[in-house]
Amino acid sequence: MASRAYMDEPTVVKVGGLDIGGDTIHVMAGPCAVESREQLLQAAQIVKEAGATLLRGGAFKPRTSPYSFHGLEEQGLEMLAEARERTGLCIVTEVMDPRTVNLVAQYADILQIGTRNMQNFFLLREVARAGKPVLLKRGSSATIEEWLLAAEYILAEGNRDVILCERGIRTFENYTRNTLDLTAVPVIKYLSHLPVIVDPSHAIGKWRFVEPMSRAAIAAGADGLLVEVHPNPAEALCDGPQSLNPENFRVLMKELGGIAEIM
Ligand code: PEP
Ligand code: MN
Repeated sequence: MASRAYMDEPTVVKVGGLDIGGDTIHVMAGPCAVESREQLLQAAQIVKEAGATLLRGGAFKPRTSPYSFHGLEEQGLEMLAEARERTGLCIVTEVMDPRTVNLVAQYADILQIGTRNMQNFFLLREVARAGKPVLLKRGSSATIEEWLLAAEYILAEGNRDVILCERGIRTFENYTRNTLDLTAVPVIKYLSHLPVIVDPSHAIGKWRFVEPMSRAAIAAGADGLLVEVHPNPAEALCDGPQSLNPENFRVLMKELGGIAEIM
């Protein structure tokens, strides 16, 4: 069902009046984690003014260490809903556990499956049934075929609104956090009708390379971007080194406006 052989016409995912996979590029931006009401509302304002159409922020955070900040959970979801009310931005947030799918779906416009859960098949099925579009990140060691088969789990459950997200894969290179596999963009476009966006922030892990690789992603044919932006990256509780500050995000959006139509 994910393949072009099944359906040749590109899938356009409709969310809150936006068409993802349509003629315009969409930028999902915001902090890695919702840290406080003030931080989130500030971030929402910044990304909205710069031209993003979706706000991303984690209320449930998968962290490598059990001692790291794991998110504000339902309180964080409430803050995201307030930010949507104030700015009109659609909300993208991660769901990690089948037991919280319904809760997260009450607040989110798009449910994100993170890289660590790409092959959590019970979660994929549960998320598919929530009736919301799903942003499926590529597993950090997943082949394109495995990624498309993970998407298939969602489609087979009757949910056609799947957006794929390339977020870097693990290679021998360790200067960057992961290796951004931009070839995945034209390959996915060739193999599948599903929209594909690129997350340069998690792929690279260093803010200064996010802007050039965002431009490259759009040039390669991506339908959008997922970018981490924090009002004050030095104080971020999560992923500060890869987060753009407000000024750098504005510069990025201006640059993108020069090469593509951004909504
Ligand atoms: C995120 O988007 O904040 C995140 C945890 O990403 P990934 O699953 O790609 O590591
Ligand atoms: Mn992050």
